[in-house]
Amino acid sequence: MKQYSKLIRNLFVIVIISSLLVSCLKEVKERSEIKNADYGIVIHGGAGYMVPEWYSEEQIKAYEEKLNEALKTGQSILKNGGTSLDAVEATIKILEDSPLFNAGKGAVFTSNGKNELDAAIMNGADLNCGAVAGVTTTKNPISLARLVMEKSKHVFMAREGAEKFGRANGIETVDPEYFYTDKAWHSLQKAKEKELENEKLGTVGCAALDKHGNLAAGTSTGGMTNKRFGRIGDVPVIGAGTYANNATCAISCTGHGEFFIRNVVAHDISALMEYKGLTFDEASEKVINDKLVKVKGDGGMIGIDRNGNVAMKFNTKGMFRGFILEDGKPVIKIFKD
Ligand code: ASP
Repeated sequence: MKQYSKLIRNLFVIVIISSLLVSCLKEVKERSEIKNADYGIVIHGGAGYMVPEWYSEEQIKAYEEKLNEALKTGQSILKNGGTSLDAVEATIKILEDSPLFNAGKGAVFTSNGKNELDAAIMNGADLNCGAVAGVTTTKNPISLARLVMEKSKHVFMAREGAEKFGRANGIETVDPEYFYTDKAWHSLQKAKEKELENEKLGTVGCAALDKHGNLAAGTSTGGMTNKRFGRIGDVPVIGAGTYANNATCAISCTGHGEFFIRNVVAHDISALMEYKGLTFDEASEKVINDKLVKVKGDGGMIGIDRNGNVAMKFNTKGMFRGFILEDGKPVIKIFKD
């Protein structure tokens, strides 16, 4: 008799706990299901040691203007019913063409004084993706990444092979001198003096949700100042620096690439949403400001989820970042709030 009552009590406790769990999960799901915007775009221009004292008013203005121009370009594509992929590529091209950022023109130098560029793009609708690493003459690596995705049977191509494929398909190439800026060259000299290998700033990335409900993400970088030549970072590694999945979100990361690869950061955020029911905000906060902080992995991420919720998280002093949702009002920030 005593045993029966114990059994009934245990069963009762199990039923109560399960119903509490079910209602918690339902609440989390409902919270993340709330539609925030039908379409929108979010960008970054790198995370790092950004404090107001380091920048003049003109410099801040120049960064804000370029970020604004990039956002507006992507936004107008989305507003006119264009795809998130087109918006991501066009937006990133503007940032690659600007010497202000560490991507395309203005990319940082390797230890042997060259520019080796990495980029990736991903389509959340079918998980198709394309990436390139170590290219040295492609003007816009993001467009080459897209070409790999759409016109080759592969996902990831590197160096001469990637560039030969690009040239055969009409991709614009430049003399490697094109990427040179005094700023990037001086930061290599500084890094060499201090024997630093991890100075970084200015990688660019974009994530977008279009009116058709499709997500896309892309990232482009010169990597890290004074990196060993041949080093490839997280940016072109799908799931590490770049990821998009219509079931969850689209993400582009920036920071110390080795940590982002080890922790498969972009996919980890998506997986926390898909398998654990976390909201986009909770999942990205957990990965950037808890998991990465514990292993001293500096950096951040930007992204948008399938309901138009934006996340811009970083564990560094600052991150060039901004977004526009369907209301058309740009939000642009550099420093901590
Ligand atoms: N994640 C890039 C890399 O490691 C650098 C950066 O984002 O600043 O190549």
